[in-house]
Amino acid sequence: MPPTTPGTGSASASGPALFGSAAGELTVGGVPASLIAERAGGTPLFAYDRKLVVERVAAVREALPAGVKLSYAVKANPMPALLHHMSTLVDGFDVASSGEMLAALDTGVPGARIAFAGPGKTAAELRQAVAAGVLVELESAGELDRVRAAGAALGVRPRVAVRVNPPFAVHGSGMRMGGGPQQFGVDAEQVPELLAEIARDTSGPGAVGFEGFHVFAGSQNLSAESICRAQRETVALVAELAEHAPAPVRYLNLGGGFGIPYSARDVPLDPRPIGENLAELLETTVRRALPQARPVIELGRYLVGEAGVYLTRVVDRKESRGTTYLVVDGGLHHQLAATGNLGRALRRNYPIAVAGHAAGTGGAGRSGEPTETVDVVGCLCTPLDLLGRAVELPRAEPGALIAVFQAGAYGLTASPTAFLGHPAPRELLL
Ligand SMILES: *Cc1c(COP(=O)(O)O)cnc(C)c1O
Repeated sequence: MPPTTPGTGSASASGPALFGSAAGELTVGGVPASLIAERAGGTPLFAYDRKLVVERVAAVREALPAGVKLSYAVKANPMPALLHHMSTLVDGFDVASSGEMLAALDTGVPGARIAFAGPGKTAAELRQAVAAGVLVELESAGELDRVRAAGAALGVRPRVAVRVNPPFAVHGSGMRMGGGPQQFGVDAEQVPELLAEIARDTSGPGAVGFEGFHVFAGSQNLSAESICRAQRETVALVAELAEHAPAPVRYLNLGGGFGIPYSARDVPLDPRPIGENLAELLETTVRRALPQARPVIELGRYLVGEAGVYLTRVVDRKESRGTTYLVVDGGLHHQLAATGNLGRALRRNYPIAVAGHAAGTGGAGRSGEPTETVDVVGCLCTPLDLLGRAVELPRAEPGALIAVFQAGAYGLTASPTAFLGHPAPRELLL
């Protein structure tokens, strides 16, 4: 410590700068890295800082206009303790499988505050969702048939919304999930037909209750301007589609897609202009065309991504033809995204630092300490397992702890844990 901070020049602290330190060691939730490792019974591990999550949610709420609901996308990090923590902070959960749905319900949040999106929901999953009173976000006409069947079988009226694949894409999204042909949602031009189909049966045993629309067009966006434009286009689109709806639109899920900085080139996103844009939309189009709508912003990565670090220990230090390698006990089987193998065209280092040394051997290096250039590699027998290329770190011997930041979202949950047969890492919420 201190490592380089991505996006310096922005007002808001992000990544490594969010965490504290004590006696030269990184702390998470106030606990020094070496003690976190001892508490967990060893490395590698993920440590999440509950206070940082509280602060991030508060910052988003402060930016958003009153009356906008905030929902957490469980996919980003489904750790049960984190979900419980989240359940006290947000208005609802977005889930994308029955497993996530059950985890969300376990927190005590009622089904009424859970929305279930995602392609390929099975008949069994739809039945579970209907039984739990969860809002089903229809991704196709076939899904409407299956959800009707579930409702008829259970004698429960399913709650549905239509997930729309908009005609536009969101510029600057790291991961595009709308515009053009998609496996997600119903193409906007097909939505009136689907709405007519929903309206065809509103009182029989296969009737469903229509609540509104969901448009989620992209993820990992660092441009407030692009997000604002997408929200304007989304509200205009929903206002048009609402004219075909069998009931007033009460649910208006505008997606999210707020990104976080992963490399030194990324500038952190400021949510305030997005909130201002949204306030204007609420005063104009929403008030006029969708007066009963409760807007929802759904976020995963932005709420938890920066609150987590992956801690792994140096096992070996070796030189190979001029390159110094720090070989650590973790790797891509736990933190695939940091190795650039999860949906990144260009590999860039995540922020990485020496977090501490083996218990009782002193701090992690103070500022001003000389650094060296090293490659930090994981313990898997594949060249893909590269956590940091040519990073500047204080000298680290075997036993030192390495922290890989921005690990709170799409870390363990998005990694091939079975690859190479190493044990699963611990996850701690501190
Ligand atoms: C993945 C996903 C999210 C969460 O995206 P983040 O980038 O983590 O905020 C939200 N909504 C839907 C429908 C998703 O598929």
